[in-house]
Amino acid sequence: MNAKQPDYDVIIVGSGPAGSSTALNLLARSPTLRERIVVLEKATHPRIKLCAGGVVPDVERCLGSVGLTLADIHTVSVDWAHMHYRGRGFRMRVARDEAFRVLRRNELDAYLADNVQRRGIRLEEHTEVSRVHVSDSMVSVETNRGRLVGRVVVGADGAKSVVRKHVGASHNSERRVARLVESLVPEMPSDPRMPAGDALFEFGCMANGVQGYFWNFPSHDGGDPRRTAGVYDSRAGGGDPRTSLRTIMQAEMEASGRDPTELVLEGHPLRWYDPNATIATHRVLLAGDAAGVDAVFGEGISLSLGYGEVAAEALAGALATGDLSFSDYAQRVRSSALGRSLLMRTRVAKILYRLRSPAIQRALIWYGGPFFRWFLSRYIFNWRPETMSTEHEQRRRFPIFDA
Ligand SMILES: Cc1cc2nc3c(=O)[nH]c(=O)nc-3n(C[C@H](O)[C@H](O)[C@H](O)COP(=O)(O)OP(=O)(O)OC[C@H]3O[C@@H](n4cnc5c(N)ncnc54)[C@H](O)[C@@H]3O)c2cc1C
Repeated sequence: MNAKQPDYDVIIVGSGPAGSSTALNLLARSPTLRERIVVLEKATHPRIKLCAGGVVPDVERCLGSVGLTLADIHTVSVDWAHMHYRGRGFRMRVARDEAFRVLRRNELDAYLADNVQRRGIRLEEHTEVSRVHVSDSMVSVETNRGRLVGRVVVGADGAKSVVRKHVGASHNSERRVARLVESLVPEMPSDPRMPAGDALFEFGCMANGVQGYFWNFPSHDGGDPRRTAGVYDSRAGGGDPRTSLRTIMQAEMEASGRDPTELVLEGHPLRWYDPNATIATHRVLLAGDAAGVDAVFGEGISLSLGYGEVAAEALAGALATGDLSFSDYAQRVRSSALGRSLLMRTRVAKILYRLRSPAIQRALIWYGGPFFRWFLSRYIFNWRPETMSTEHEQRRRFPIFDA
């Protein structure tokens, strides 16, 4: 590499929740970096992102910490979430008066990207990163619009991350990837399994080898009512995929009272968190789907926003001290509220989705309601404390080191 001076201190690849959150949180911590951060995005906002758009209260808390709110975009409130196994189970709410909210990702991500720009951070759209080269003294990023040089690079470029390939991602990393298919369909006249304003998580497809569930949520398209339906197959319980998600989807849509032939299905992977995976190397760190999110439900919006907070704290510290090794980043993630929730989700998914007996699967959902309600709201959702700082979290966890 030649001796070109860095164009930027921080090059963030991707302007989904992880990338925009990293930029906004870094600016909040280090305002003097405003003109030293660039976000590279291959698409142009508002861009399509395959996602059911279900958001838990943690999203509002993460947004609030950078002065943003879900009230600025259109959301649909879900009254109850039904956890079923073949039509029977329990219902729950994550917040006091609703289960969760549903938004459209084109709107959320455009809102985040707009605020990145409004605060003076450069966002380069139509800019696709094809290669990252790290040397002792800098990071060089090749794009379809030329080469950029930075001091550090953040891979927030989703489940198919290009940056990830350059951090020496660990063994078996392709096994930490879930399969998902989704379809946005017109409002259904009525689903016999639940009231119109409710959401369904149907785990009965586990009997057919799916390590996850079928979902059916209320949603919208430009404010007009729609439903989002799909199948999440985590692959967290081991074994190779052997089930056609399209077949599962068709059967579930039929059970919802719809014509399965009208389905237009799209698929996208999701990487879930592995505490042993490499998520940072010298001058490079990963956030969001590129690093790994929730293995149980495939929930990633709140977690990607949370990654942005942890990444920003690591970046601010590294740039201030000049130690750009990010050797403590994985530990920072692990010891934060974000990391504890991620770890719990991975552990639960590995146990839950390893259960092969339909009788046990059924018993768990039919009779385990009180336990699941407590467990999900205690350990999985509502993971983000009102204020989140990994330094604070570390002190709380290891009081022996407190001065
Ligand atoms: C079908 C489906 C349904 C889901 N449903 C939910 C849900 O209901 N609730 C929930 O919380 N989570 C859900 N998720 C997970 C959620 O979508 C992800 O966890 C979340 O989008 C991760 O955010 P991110 O910022 O890490 O990545 P992304 O949102 O994927 O953003 C990455 C960005 O990087 C850009 N990019 C990619 N490659 C490059 C490149 N080479 N150069 C430049 N830019 C690049 C992309 O264009 C994109 O804008 C779902 C996922 C899927 C697939």
